[in-house]
Formats: sequence, C-alpha cells, structure tokens
Amino acid sequence: MRFDILTIFPKSLNSYLKESIIARAKKAKLIEIHLHDIRTFSKDKHKKVDDIPYGGGAGMVMTPQPLYDAINHVKKFNHGPVIYLSASGKNFKQTDAEKLVKIHALQKPKNGIILICGRYEGIDQRIIDLCIDREISIGNYVLTGGELPAMVVLDAISRLIPGVLGKEKSHEHDSFSKALNRKKEYPHYTRPEKFEGHKVPKVLLSGHHKEIENWRKSHLK
Ligand code: SAM
Repeated sequence: MRFDILTIFPKSLNSYLKESIIARAKKAKLIEIHLHDIRTFSKDKHKKVDDIPYGGGAGMVMTPQPLYDAINHVKKFNHGPVIYLSASGKNFKQTDAEKLVKIHALQKPKNGIILICGRYEGIDQRIIDLCIDREISIGNYVLTGGELPAMVVLDAISRLIPGVLGKEKSHEHDSFSKALNRKKEYPHYTRPEKFEGHKVPKVLLSGHHKEIENWRKSHLK
C-alpha cells in the first residue's frame, strides 16, 4: 500500500520510519512511503508557505498555492483519498483503519492514501474545499503539526496489512478488534511468576485453555 505524506518537515519523520515494524514492512515492499516537502512547490521567491489570516487574528495560515501544486503532483502517482490531518476532523477509530486497509491494501494496492500535514493555524479553507476528501483527527487535543497524526494513521493502517506483523503476532485479538467485541484487551503477564510481591493470576499458570479463555474474556474492558 502506498502512502504519500505532504509536510513542511519531512526530516522530522525519518527516524520513526526507519525503525522496527514499519521499516521491515517497507523493506518487504508491503508498504511504500513517499515524503514530499510542500515548500519545494512554493512559487514564492523565498519559498514561503504561510501568510497572515484574512480578517486578522493571531497565527499564520498555510497558503493554497504550494499545497495545491503538491497535491496535484502526488495525485499523478497515488489515486487514493486525500486526507487532511486536522483537530476538527472526524475522530480516527480502529474501524476506520480496517476500512482503509480493506479498500486500498487488499483491493487497490496501488491506490494508497495521501496524508496532508498542516502547521501554523492550519491550511487555507479553499484547499479543503477543492482537494480534501476526508479530515481525520487523532483525538480531542491540538498538536503543533499534522506529522505525528500522519504517523498514527500510517502505523494503525500498516499493522493491519497481511504480513506486516509477521507470523508471530496477529492484530486480530488486539484491543478494539472484532474478535474482542471492539473492547479493550485483557491484562498480559510474563516471567517471573512473582514480582515485587505481585503474583501472576493462578489460572494463567494452569495450562487449562478453556479457563484461560474465560478469564481473558471476563477481563476485557
Ligand atoms: N487552529 C487549529 C485548530 O484550532 O484546530 C490548530 C492548528 S494546529 C496548531 C496545526 C496542525 O496540526 C493542523 O493543521 C493539523 O494538521 C495538525 N493537528 C493538530 N491537532 C491535530 C489532531 N488532534 N488531529 C490531527 N491533526 C492535528
């Protein structure tokens, strides 16, 4: 599945994308990630990407031209939805990640998604009206930019793509999965059996699969 990420801080994402599961998924060609620096599309002689807001007020707004050109450039390679990460978007849920994977990774692998990271007070409304298919929020709080939300969306989707987690780990019994009735998962324990006076629940040591399953079911939240 292809991800195109438009940002004015592409370097800020490099370290995350070069580690662990996401890096392995890239290497195995299960995901393709393309970072685009919005600033390089600016026609301003100083490569400016922001300006003061009409109507006054504090803060700057991302100007439409660089974003418009950047989005149209990327759309030549990626025919998936253009998503703006925005605090005023719809809250992102596990079911949204599942839907995006079903459509784009399984049915149309070449049509991934295009993620737009805002900065300052956000982007000019005309870009939202002209180019954005969907606005996604990762929670009811405000961050300084859309880069971390883009990583959240990319990560939540990528781990659902078959093969990304590897054989040893399945996402099918994680929190919010269908198998867990969309509930939060049960507690996990590993060795040692006793730690700082706290013992592992006896049933988990019993080897009795049915009882363990019942205990786990009864500890879903
Ligand atoms: N003025 C905006 C508001 O009140 O909603 C906040 C802009 S914020 C400082 C800059 C950028 O961070 C936004 O354009 C958006 O891309 C991103 N952002 C901030 N909070 C977010 C959230 N909860 N979910 C997704 N993106 C967010």
